[in-house]
Amino acid sequence: MPKKDKIEKINEEEDKDADKIIDLLKDDILIFAQSLEKEYEIGDYIVRAIDGVDFKIKEGEFIVIKGPSGAGKTTLLNLLSGLDSPNKGIIYGHGVKFSDLDEESLATFRLVNSGFIFQNYNLISTLTAEENIIFVLRTAGVDFKEARKRAVHLLKKVGLSERREHLPFQLSAGEQQRVAIARALANDPPVIFGDEITANLDKKTSEFIRDIFKDLKDLRKTIILATHDDRLIDLADVIINFDDGKIINEKRIIK
Ligand code: ADP
Ligand code: MG
Repeated sequence: MPKKDKIEKINEEEDKDADKIIDLLKDDILIFAQSLEKEYEIGDYIVRAIDGVDFKIKEGEFIVIKGPSGAGKTTLLNLLSGLDSPNKGIIYGHGVKFSDLDEESLATFRLVNSGFIFQNYNLISTLTAEENIIFVLRTAGVDFKEARKRAVHLLKKVGLSERREHLPFQLSAGEQQRVAIARALANDPPVIFGDEITANLDKKTSEFIRDIFKDLKDLRKTIILATHDDRLIDLADVIINFDDGKIINEKRIIK
């Protein structure tokens, strides 16, 4: 292609991108995914974990993703949150096309825009409960004194004021998950992702976590959870059944 045509083609693509972003923002769409595919290659085997997924999430929606083990729920959450990248397809978050961001920009984007809560907590094992929270605040540029103040406040909110100095291994599963939730909320992100966050927890902790998510819903946070926990499913605006890397159906709850 001659150089001039090439430049025109790039400009055309950029115009299309800009139009797309304007459309998304106009409709309050916070996360938009189109024709997503993700494959994992292990030796001679290829697993298509995500197989052609289109997805739109509006600001303030509470989305629950259900599906059997191996359905691709974790992979989907990782893609939508920018923790991992697809083999094919496009994702926009907050009007930003993920594939336009390099690794470092994407990390900053995640830090500011989303909190992620994992099934296995993923706390930094050498840092105390308080330090785990301070770490993400400091990474986002909050000064130490303010970060410490916020960490103390967050730990109080999740009922762990007395556990500030504990290392993860000195905490119960439920306590670790509460620290992980406090960490995910530290930078007050507009979007919260959670991957089977109550799967390994007792009833009391699960109810406590449900109450936290009820408050987050009332604050109009955008929430995307992979879960089978009825207490959390009760809060959903949209329930998505997911299997074999595909959306099987989508149920919108009219309240
Ligand atoms: P779910 O969270 O619904 O249980 P996953 O997203 O974890 O499903 O996995 C979807 C499919 O992709 C599964 O078949 C799983 O074995 C495969 N898979 C997930 N992660 C990897 C990986 N890092 N490497 C290879 N295969 C993977
Ligand atoms: Mg999973």
